[in-house]
Amino acid sequence: DKKLVVITGTSSGLGKHTTKALLQANDYHVIGAVRDLEKMKLVAELEGFDMERFTAMELDLASFESVKKFTEELEKFRGDRPIDRLVCNAAVYQPTLAYPKWTVDGHEQQLQINYLSHFLLTSKVMPMMTDSSDARVVMIGSVTGNDNTVGGGGVYPIADLKDLDGLELGCKKPIAMMDGYNFNGAKMYKDTKLALMMTSNMLHERFHRSTGIAFSSIYPGCIAESPLFREKRPWFRKYFPIFMKYITGGFVGEQEAGTRLFQVLHDPKCTKSGVYWSWNGGPREGRGMEAMEKGGQIVGAGGAGGGWESIFENDQSDKVLNKDLVQKLWQSTNEVTGAE
Ligand code: NDP
Repeated sequence: DKKLVVITGTSSGLGKHTTKALLQANDYHVIGAVRDLEKMKLVAELEGFDMERFTAMELDLASFESVKKFTEELEKFRGDRPIDRLVCNAAVYQPTLAYPKWTVDGHEQQLQINYLSHFLLTSKVMPMMTDSSDARVVMIGSVTGNDNTVGGGGVYPIADLKDLDGLELGCKKPIAMMDGYNFNGAKMYKDTKLALMMTSNMLHERFHRSTGIAFSSIYPGCIAESPLFREKRPWFRKYFPIFMKYITGGFVGEQEAGTRLFQVLHDPKCTKSGVYWSWNGGPREGRGMEAMEKGGQIVGAGGAGGGWESIFENDQSDKVLNKDLVQKLWQSTNEVTGAE
């Protein structure tokens, strides 16, 4: 009777906080797809997860084999119940690497963990969702995948898949980047987020009408305190949250970000498909001194823009909406991941 929710990366940050919100709501059973079961166990204990309604399952997104094993386990676990929600949340961020790190499958790590494996996972979980009366697939995008905005378009490097020459060649060692150009870790991360958002649109166009599944992507706001920035230098980790809080006004606490993702999974209005959800109180709003004077810019901790009313359907950049490129991305990713 509980709705089944699959979320990748529930052992930290956004995934953890969203799980907490879902468990409090009482309507859901959360399946946490995590690479480290021991860590998950510890985190669940510390956070007081209700283990009657939470199940951890092993999923290492750096391996296609692991994705397949996970979906087999999921299939057994669900029996004849449908999966009601799938959230592609887990990610790594490696902006300072001089050379790419590779997965067992020979892909650059951010590429496979953030994008390729989530693509494969979605293709395998979608058939388990078609019997749900309210199925939703949510991709965690980023402002960086949308170059209409300050954070996405104004900050170097800019996400750009160009003609996808790298991906068409398989994107295997030594080819790291989807555009086929030289490795740039910060750009790679942004490219993976752009690709996820494009995939969400493609899924909407191809499958929304026939399956009833709602596909969306979200930008939860910049979670500056999140461990995602663990590979950044210490000075950056120390000052970045302060910078985001006072200069750009785009800072959200982890808990508020979790509430936002929870809204997209729970709020009846978020059954709409083909949408890129964002919230006012993010980088588009309340910038600079004015915001600082209003005080409490950590949204949800008394700051401006908190609450469910602040959600809106954000515009998507020309890159995200480029139909030819989306088509090419779809085809090449299917080939690289063996999804079709
Ligand atoms: P965290 O680093 O806190 O969480 C990332 C999660 O991904 C962790 O649970 C981590 O597992 C998991 N993960 C990493 N590698 C793998 C793998 N190989 N297999 C399975 N799981 C893996 O970051 P956030 O919570 O901030 O990030 C969550 C999402 O939000 C990401 O998609 C990120 O891109 C996005 N986002 C973040 C923003 C921010 O400002 N932080 C802004 C916009 C979007 P483990 O716990 O074992 O480390």
